[in-house]
Amino acid sequence: MYDAEVGDDGRTDKLGRGEDPSVNNLEDVAAEVMGKEAALFCNSGTMANLISLLTHGTRGDNVLAGETCHINKSEKAPFMENIGGLIPRFFETDVFGAPDMDSIHQLMNDYEIKLLCLENTNNFMGGTCLSKEQMNTLCNVAHENGIPVHLDGARIFNASVYYDIPVKKLVKPADSVMFSLSKGLGAPMGSVLCGQKAFITRARKIRKLLGGSMRQSGVVAATGITAIQQEVDRLKEDHENAYLLAGMIKDNAKINIRMDAVQTNIVNVDVSSSGRSAKTIESDLLNKGLKVKSISDYKVRITTYRGVTRDDIIRAATIINAYFREC
Ligand SMILES: *Cc1c(COP(=O)(O)O)cnc(C)c1O
Repeated sequence: MYDAEVGDDGRTDKLGRGEDPSVNNLEDVAAEVMGKEAALFCNSGTMANLISLLTHGTRGDNVLAGETCHINKSEKAPFMENIGGLIPRFFETDVFGAPDMDSIHQLMNDYEIKLLCLENTNNFMGGTCLSKEQMNTLCNVAHENGIPVHLDGARIFNASVYYDIPVKKLVKPADSVMFSLSKGLGAPMGSVLCGQKAFITRARKIRKLLGGSMRQSGVVAATGITAIQQEVDRLKEDHENAYLLAGMIKDNAKINIRMDAVQTNIVNVDVSSSGRSAKTIESDLLNKGLKVKSISDYKVRITTYRGVTRDDIIRAATIINAYFREC
């Protein structure tokens, strides 16, 4: 950050590149690692997804997505009448959040679909992964029907580490992909949207409309380059920590954890047998020094990252087990 060369990223040259050299470097590194032609640095994942969806579609277009996907559940703007105006058509999913093929076919039959949105890993289903084969099958079906695919890959590097394959192989069939620099990869902020050159050129204009063109953003972009080049392998520690935690608390009678869904850095805990709401548990555990998040009335999400050590995990498990013994 200290040494980053900076400029005005919002001012573009005749090739459509901004004037901040560090942002340009980050975009080149990101495009290369994702195997896409071009990339665009964005303030957040929410903004990158919004830019992508507004670049793919226009008001009134039908978009295939999962009902519990982050874009619908948390971001909302692409599907809000007064912002994006796109219309979500929700496909069915299995317990891992993987789209159901029959339901996709049915929706493509019923509506003129303009975009398919996938999410890998799936946030609200507990960091579950779509394999290369699943990605290929889903994208093929879309492409055979002339439909492009946007991948919300906020945590796509977690999936590539889980399958132990280069991330570019996993995202190859997607037309656009967004990933976060500021989650497991540990950068202070930012996300990157990747895709074909013409797509990114149009996306850059939409980023400007949304106020996402920045000056001196190279100070942050520099950290994104480090994140991509040095932090990916470390993600497996987060996965080991999540699995360790899940294993230490799973036998508790008051909670339920699907161990086959604990694939990456998220543990979803079903607390319906505890007689307490997820919100109550969230605040009770916070009082005992552990921060978890309620993601529905009866589901609590626990996430590991670079700031959480193995010792922290053991302390967390002790707090959780003691708490539910008293329930
Ligand atoms: C975190 C997340 C986002 C949004 O990223 P922000 O930087 O928080 O805006 C989008 N999609 C998924 C799946 C996420 O987990």
